[in-house]
Amino acid sequence: LEQQLLQARKMEAVGQLAGGVAHDFNNLLQVIIGHGEMMADERTMPRNLHDNLEQLLNAAQRAAGLVRQLLAFSRRQVLEMQDLDLNTVIGECLKMARRVIGEMITVVPVYGHNLATIRADRNQLEQILLNLLINARDAMPNGGTITVETENVLIDESYRQQHPYARTGRYVLLSVIDTGYGMDEETRNRVFEPFFTTKGLGRGTGLGLATVYGLVRQHDGLIHVYSELEKGTSFKIYLPAVERSAAAVGDKIQGAVVGG
Ligand code: ADP
Repeated sequence: LEQQLLQARKMEAVGQLAGGVAHDFNNLLQVIIGHGEMMADERTMPRNLHDNLEQLLNAAQRAAGLVRQLLAFSRRQVLEMQDLDLNTVIGECLKMARRVIGEMITVVPVYGHNLATIRADRNQLEQILLNLLINARDAMPNGGTITVETENVLIDESYRQQHPYARTGRYVLLSVIDTGYGMDEETRNRVFEPFFTTKGLGRGTGLGLATVYGLVRQHDGLIHVYSELEKGTSFKIYLPAVERSAAAVGDKIQGAVVGG
């Protein structure tokens, strides 16, 4: 429990720091890009200089993209909360993501029946799901299956004692399960850390799951990761149901000790 609180505080501090730096850095980048683009419009510029300038602008644009991600991660964005059916959001998101996921991977949605309504920001939900789908894809270079599952769950007192943020009551559980290469213990312990990546320079930013973590927390939700090398990984996200009291028939009770 202490460990989790410490982790949360660390995330908060890094987020604030990164946000402050990113904001100033972004202003400077905009100056570079703005002046660079004006120079690139100069017709009289020799060809080789122009090529160099293009390189410079490309790099600056990429840096700006990174900074945008950082800002998205650290900024307490204003949420546009509305009552949503998670199944509907998933259905639309999977359609959008089909191309990104590629042909080699089968996506299996398992929609829970009579799913409780959640109050959430639709764009952020899509961002959460997309990040998890892309990570799952990256973990399965030779193809595999991604299962996206929803269900109603009830969190009871014994579960709550393991998870400082959980409140007893009804949640909707979103699971994203892949059959990819999984993670070793060190990776699993660090996945939510900003800038932690095993994907190598230029491929990963290490901000995907840090962003997901932040978004889930903004929704008063919980996120857990379970993973085994060579077997696969599952992410479980609990989002509070709108009608939180009185268990509906069919809610699965989450009282067992949960690790991972
Ligand atoms: P990035 O994808 O840019 O590396 P993330 O924060 O999204 O950043 O992920 C951090 C790291 O967590 C990844 O580099 C990878 O090692 C690990 N990871 C995330 N999702 C999975 C997954 N589904 N299977 C295996 N490893 C994963």
